[in-house]
Amino acid sequence: TANCIQRAMEPGQKLFRLVSDQFIITDLTGRSVSDARLLYNRIRYEIACWIEAHQYQTVFTISAGIIDTKDRMNDYDQILKFLEFALNEAKLEGKNECYLFQKEDYHAWVHRQKLRKQLLHAVNNGFCGFEIYYQPIMHTREHSLVSAEALMRFFVPADPDADGDETGVARELVMISPAEFIPILEESGLIIPVGRWLVRTAAGVCKEWQKEHPGMRVQVNLSYVQVAKTDVLRDVREVLNEIGLSPECLGVELTESGYLDSNTHFKKLWDGLKKNGVLVILDDFGTGYSNLHCLGDLRPNYIKIDRSFTLKALNNQYEHDLMTQIITMTHKLGLTLCVEGIETESEFKKISELDPDYIQGFLFSRPQPAEEFYENLIGPAVAAAHLTA
Ligand code: C2E
Ligand code: CA
Ligand code: CA
Repeated sequence: TANCIQRAMEPGQKLFRLVSDQFIITDLTGRSVSDARLLYNRIRYEIACWIEAHQYQTVFTISAGIIDTKDRMNDYDQILKFLEFALNEAKLEGKNECYLFQKEDYHAWVHRQKLRKQLLHAVNNGFCGFEIYYQPIMHTREHSLVSAEALMRFFVPADPDADGDETGVARELVMISPAEFIPILEESGLIIPVGRWLVRTAAGVCKEWQKEHPGMRVQVNLSYVQVAKTDVLRDVREVLNEIGLSPECLGVELTESGYLDSNTHFKKLWDGLKKNGVLVILDDFGTGYSNLHCLGDLRPNYIKIDRSFTLKALNNQYEHDLMTQIITMTHKLGLTLCVEGIETESEFKKISELDPDYIQGFLFSRPQPAEEFYENLIGPAVAAAHLTA
């Protein structure tokens, strides 16, 4: 490999071997980053020629990270760190690729690494930092509370550099969006313990609420990693038994994303949950992830229309007609339907005309912690029930 690299190099460039199969080429002659890309291409070419000439029967890839050392010349350790990152990015791009170092990518990566550590620490410390927020799902016609979707939150101390914490005052917490931390939990497998914790906690909270508001339900989101790597059916049955919650008061929201390669396994879980009386909910309907064929293959109890689809239906006649037909169709099939993402009265009025069974959205409430949910939603629901009784 070193010989091939040397054949591709230009005068003034130097080759060093870092460790095992890693090399560094330095160029202090003032050539540019695009010259570095050309060099990379020549190295690939030299290696391809060698492999062909020697009829070498193996897959051989060569990945490169390129860094513009201008302004960074004095910090060898820093450059090494950046290079390690750049090489890794090149490999992530599918190997046999080169990647040009970008500071923003590096900072995003450092941020993700830090978050990953914080998540691991939280899991190892009784899930401290994780919280479950609940968002109500309302009956469209009766305006009554039917269920709550459990949504995960993660809190970390505010950046100490931002607001010096020498004062000794407890540092503020900032909330990280699930869109940011769920993918990290999935990648690292941490979603498995966290997901179990969430189902158990949410089921327990629901059981408490039922003392005041009988029939109250809770809905949890399951990630494809949990489905693929754990026995979700067993976990769910265990929780229901332990807590004493009836299965029809637990809803499991699933999207089709990621399931395609494990379709039979997925279907088995889906059927098992239904057989046990748990509500199975097809989430994000109308996005790329959940489509018509799911209705036939999976026969959910109920479907949720994603907010992105709701927005389109509110702003475009064709999409509005499409949603009307979907609602009619799901009703004809005997399925329940929830429209997600209603924020204003006028949106509510427009969507109500289509007669979906349930509505979820900021208009009724944003997701909130269990205690607040109890005060703001369970209390009034109980009062309303007394009035009608
Ligand atoms: P999702 O399952 O589609 O959840 C609904 C999201 O829409 C929630 O965002 C909710 O706060 C938001 N939403 C509800 N009503 C409105 C509205 O009227 N307007 C607007 N703008 N947004 C509304 P959130 O809580 O940030 O969750 C984002 C996604 O993260 C969820 O999308 C779900 O895919 C994922 N997620 C959250 N918690 C969990 C969890 O415990 N497990 C797994 N696997 N995924 C989760
Ligand atoms: Ca959901
Ligand atoms: Ca959604």
